[in-house]
Amino acid sequence: MMTRVAAVCMAFAMLGSTPAPAVRASAIYATHLLDVRTGRTIDDAVVIASGGRVAYAGARSAARVPPDAERVDLGALTLLPGLIDAHVHLTLGGTPEANARATVEAGFTTVQDLGAVDETIFRLRDDIDAGRVAGPRILAAGRWIGRTNGTCDFSGIGVRGADAFRQRVREEIRRGADVIKVCVSGWLADARREPDRYEISNEELEAAITEAHRGRRPAAVHALSTAGVAAAVRLGADLVVHSAFVDRQTIDRMRARRVHLVPTLFSFARAQPEADVQAVESVVRGAVAAGLPIAFGTDAGVIAHGRNAREFEALARIGVTPIDAVRAATVHAARALRLDGTIGVLQKGASADVIAVDGNPLDDLTALQRVRYVMARGVTLRAPQ
Ligand SMILES: [Zn+2]
Repeated sequence: MMTRVAAVCMAFAMLGSTPAPAVRASAIYATHLLDVRTGRTIDDAVVIASGGRVAYAGARSAARVPPDAERVDLGALTLLPGLIDAHVHLTLGGTPEANARATVEAGFTTVQDLGAVDETIFRLRDDIDAGRVAGPRILAAGRWIGRTNGTCDFSGIGVRGADAFRQRVREEIRRGADVIKVCVSGWLADARREPDRYEISNEELEAAITEAHRGRRPAAVHALSTAGVAAAVRLGADLVVHSAFVDRQTIDRMRARRVHLVPTLFSFARAQPEADVQAVESVVRGAVAAGLPIAFGTDAGVIAHGRNAREFEALARIGVTPIDAVRAATVHAARALRLDGTIGVLQKGASADVIAVDGNPLDDLTALQRVRYVMARGVTLRAPQ
């Protein structure tokens, strides 16, 4: 039988410069813990992690810390569950490994990778799962699926016709896709000018969504025009990414089916024409007020990896309250990714994805840009010096 020391050494060898997974339990103390479900801040708190899972999260006075636990005192920081970004592209801009590290060190312990020109993302996901590379848990779409000459036809990966869409969905699933990404409409300017237009046929859209569901994968759509997002939601899409010119009937449908919108406003403000951004922001502001479910996403790869938390202030600007902005990146994103109870929450049995930030996010959302401590699946990846 392998000794504990040998197991730790092997883990170190596997991870290179990354710290080994804790063999014994860890007790992480901090002055505050934000319970993202209730919105309450618990003072003098501790999170106990053991075997990659949360064993306890709450007041220190009620905790039973195992006597041999490794103790980490983070002082005047605020503990939170690891953050979730439901829309990134880790293979865009820089090396995927460096992007993964920047992302997890910024406190994002789970990401959904919504499109690439090849399948390298699956290898990165698997390397991270196996502990060979430091990074966030990844749910990956593999290649974008869109029409020939359409929005997502990069390097000739576009297809045409319902059969071809169906085939590509099957192919991505066979290669390892966790989610299917379908491109329905163009960008903001087109969507605003021509609200009734989108670039793929209903037959193609339905074929892609139905085939994704047949393979038990959710379908995430890039749909911005009023008619495009309406068709996608009507035909069964599970997640709508980017802000959209969404109409009232579609908002009601999304609310009823809990189809989240992932706004990506910070990236829009930098990459899209200002008048179009303002127009869509006012639509999404109304939709949020009407109860549209929001999940956090950034389109990182378009913005720099590791700057994901900039999106929080953008959400606040469209009327999302601070606690709901935090929930968008925790409990709501977890539900959008079908991992509720496992991620986005500090409770017994959840994945030991724990971060600590400098400040209280409910008073100041920029605290989420000051991540000082990160544990991902029980492995400490960042700690105060
Ligand atoms: Zn994207």
